[in-house]
Amino acid sequence: MNKEANAPSRVERLVFHDRVFYVKRDDLIDPLLSGNKYRKLYSLIKTPEDQYNTIVSYGGTQSNAMLSIAALCHQKGWSFHYTSKPVPEHLKQRPTGNLKLALEMGMQLHEVTPDDYEQKTLQLKLQRNDSTLYVPQGGADPLAQSGINVLAREIYQWWQENGIEKLNVVTPSGTGTTACYLATALPCMNVLTTACVGGKAYLESQIEALGDFPKNLRILENEKKHHFAKPYAELFDIYRELKDAGIEFDLIYGAHMWHTLLQHIDALEGAMLYIHSGGLIGNATMLDRYRHKGLIAPLETAQQGL
Ligand SMILES: *Cc1c(COP(=O)(O)O)cnc(C)c1O
Repeated sequence: MNKEANAPSRVERLVFHDRVFYVKRDDLIDPLLSGNKYRKLYSLIKTPEDQYNTIVSYGGTQSNAMLSIAALCHQKGWSFHYTSKPVPEHLKQRPTGNLKLALEMGMQLHEVTPDDYEQKTLQLKLQRNDSTLYVPQGGADPLAQSGINVLAREIYQWWQENGIEKLNVVTPSGTGTTACYLATALPCMNVLTTACVGGKAYLESQIEALGDFPKNLRILENEKKHHFAKPYAELFDIYRELKDAGIEFDLIYGAHMWHTLLQHIDALEGAMLYIHSGGLIGNATMLDRYRHKGLIAPLETAQQGL
């Protein structure tokens, strides 16, 4: 990672549904610290090892943020304490995906009952001191802004070099931290996003908690409600189409963003730059769930080498 860390991630051209898209390949920066998690944790990646010895955070046990913080702590030699709701017994016996990797990198998992979860996670803030850093769920924190600003500068430079007039920057939202800070840093462009966790109102409230809602940020809505991280045939279809067109995206955020974007594309003017937000390691767990639900035929799976 460190060798490439300061070079801008590359931008590729993707023809999809008869339209040209540009894709900024932040997923290629680092397999573990990938996509927007690399950007959001950038200031910590650049922090000297002796500045902290512990990070505390919380959230879901297949979270991409969890995996990225675990990788960061592993690199820095910091301890990582992560609070979650109880992990199902079968997963505890045989962890998979992001959880497996994070545990292998030394993450210490603290399970609390669903009833205690809210209170316990609120109390984590109190553990903050000179050597212990508290990172809220999904890295929704002002510390993410400086790394997103680096991404914004790369986008701005690419835009200038390519003489593009009107540019839309597209990226999916969980906490909305990435989309919000990108829109704030790029007032000359539109930032398009969609809510992958909860709905539009929830995303708006998350973004307002970070500061003023940027005027150039637009939340696109999907015609169909998709629950976070659940398998849907149409999301798998778009994932597979994109993969066949040349780029793999994650099945949770990326598939939903593309599915939503295509519903609005005819009404949108200007060039489209999609910021790949990473998260590909989590696809293994999602593909298991698709298989489990019978949404992927075994033959298809084998042909794709998944
Ligand atoms: C975390 C994540 C997001 C959401 O980022 P926010 O800054 O929380 O909105 C989007 N895509 C992928 C792949 C992610 O892992």
